[in-house]
Amino acid sequence: MEFTYETKRNTLLLWIITGLPMMVALYFFFPSQPIDLEIFAYLLIFAIITTAIPFQVGETTIVLSQWVTLTAFLLYGIGAEMIIVQFSLIPIIYQMRNRPDVVTRVLFISWMFVASSFIAAGVVHLLGFEVGNTNLMHLLIYGSIFALIHMFVNHLILYVRDRLIGIKEKFFSEDSKWDYSSILITLPFCITLVILINELGVPAIFLLGVPFFVITFVVKMYNISERVNYSLSKASEFGHELADRLSAQQIMDLFIHRVSQLFPHDAIYIVDNLNGKYVILRARIDKQDREIHTDSDSIQNSFINECFQSEEKSVYGNTKEWMEQAPDFLTYDMNSVMIVPIHRNQRTEGVVILTARKKNAFEKYQMDIVHLLSTYFAVSLEKAKYISAAVERSETCALTGLYNYRYLDKMLAVEQDRVEANPHLQFSLLMMDIDHFKRINDTYGHHAGNIVLKEFAKILESFVPEGAVLARYGGEEFVMLIPHLNKSETAELGEQIRQKIEITPFLIESDLTETNQEEIIHITVSIGVSNAPEDTDEMIGLLRNADRALYIGAKQAGRNKVAKYVK
Ligand code: GH3
Ligand code: MG
Ligand code: MG
Repeated sequence: MEFTYETKRNTLLLWIITGLPMMVALYFFFPSQPIDLEIFAYLLIFAIITTAIPFQVGETTIVLSQWVTLTAFLLYGIGAEMIIVQFSLIPIIYQMRNRPDVVTRVLFISWMFVASSFIAAGVVHLLGFEVGNTNLMHLLIYGSIFALIHMFVNHLILYVRDRLIGIKEKFFSEDSKWDYSSILITLPFCITLVILINELGVPAIFLLGVPFFVITFVVKMYNISERVNYSLSKASEFGHELADRLSAQQIMDLFIHRVSQLFPHDAIYIVDNLNGKYVILRARIDKQDREIHTDSDSIQNSFINECFQSEEKSVYGNTKEWMEQAPDFLTYDMNSVMIVPIHRNQRTEGVVILTARKKNAFEKYQMDIVHLLSTYFAVSLEKAKYISAAVERSETCALTGLYNYRYLDKMLAVEQDRVEANPHLQFSLLMMDIDHFKRINDTYGHHAGNIVLKEFAKILESFVPEGAVLARYGGEEFVMLIPHLNKSETAELGEQIRQKIEITPFLIESDLTETNQEEIIHITVSIGVSNAPEDTDEMIGLLRNADRALYIGAKQAGRNKVAKYVK
């Protein structure tokens, strides 16, 4: 979010008009004790280090520098605390360096800490706190009050700011719970440090500092492993979800959406290489699906090609690392890039690319998880391919290559829904049966019969109108489902087919003669026609009517005829 000119100006004015005077007051007018410069220098260094290693609990970032800043307050007064706090903003400035309006943000944080210290110190002094008093109870009581008020004022300021810019958060959010509990860690360390410094001087800072950092480090590591575990369990959930999807489109959609949910990023792409040409199969930029047509050569000369070739996944932290090998679709406002090959059977089937404007946005473990997901993705795609091939096979007649009864039945149901939704739709059906087909089998053998069936199917295919379905209904019976044609147009089409069959010579090879002779034979076809809504509005009725027209109107009337259904 970019700040408006007013926000920037007001923040600056706030800092100058109220922040600076508070700083002067904190340093000059609040009670203090002479500062031991060596101890002060170490406290300053430790505060900066603690701020530099924040850790994440869930979505909350926790900084524990209070164990040093509060120590400075208890030992030397709020002026010393203020100086240390202000210097420990340096790591925060460094972490925010790429965000817009860093100056305004830092001024605000600086002001917030000064105001919190001002109020918290004011209260504890009024209540009787004495700087430099190392009595345990004194430290415990005033230290806790200071820490609590400081944190409370902090939250209040943030809450008011959020309200002012229109963000409605609860006052006691998940974040604040963690913040308040962090006092339970910092306060005991801080009180022990005050007492130990009083006894031992500088070594005390190391005696407590070393375990403090070790604990912080362990918690940080634990937290990373928690996040990895969380992502892994999510990844396995997504893996199962992917495996449940049966079409390539659904799988691709789900994959891209799930990866989008896993880690913060600004864009995600799936790139594939189809017959030597690179294409972007999917792109989602700033949470919007986009269609991107790219120049394959530009990808060819980019780090994406390298990933395809080397099958290595990589993470880049900022634009400089990849800009010389950038594909044309990646803009330089993106800094972080993660690229992961999609592997299956030791082959790269594609690559997934995640990008973020933030620098160093991706961690290595995230790359491993995307890799894991991309394996699920590849396997699911493969499974979907097999399944769709199996479905296709199960709906096709092996002899003629036409659809079979199973598919016809499915399409009848689909058309039934369509007709029900729109009763004015025309829908026709042709049922065709080869005349005296049994004789061909009996005279020339089944192999010859099969050849005739195949050739017959080919001829029918050349008559299929757009949007119509041709299927082999059974033995030598075929059905054409024709949307949009009325009954007489359909009968006209049937007539054309009948005539074509009548004049077409079929070349067969007879199995039943000694010499396996080739022979030319002629066949005829009988055809029944029915229509919805004219004859019926049920698809099953349409089939029955066409069948009846075929047997009564065509076969019984002497065969080689087209007959319309009559009620
Ligand atoms: P009609 O003019 O009354 O239709 O007589 P038809 O002989 O064509 O009818 P019928 O139903 O008596 O015979 C159909 C024959 O089709 C019986 C069966 O052997 C044959 N047939 C069915 N499927 C196949 C097949 O896949 N290959 C071969 N070669 N013959 C088949
Ligand atoms: Mg027949
Ligand atoms: Mg038949």
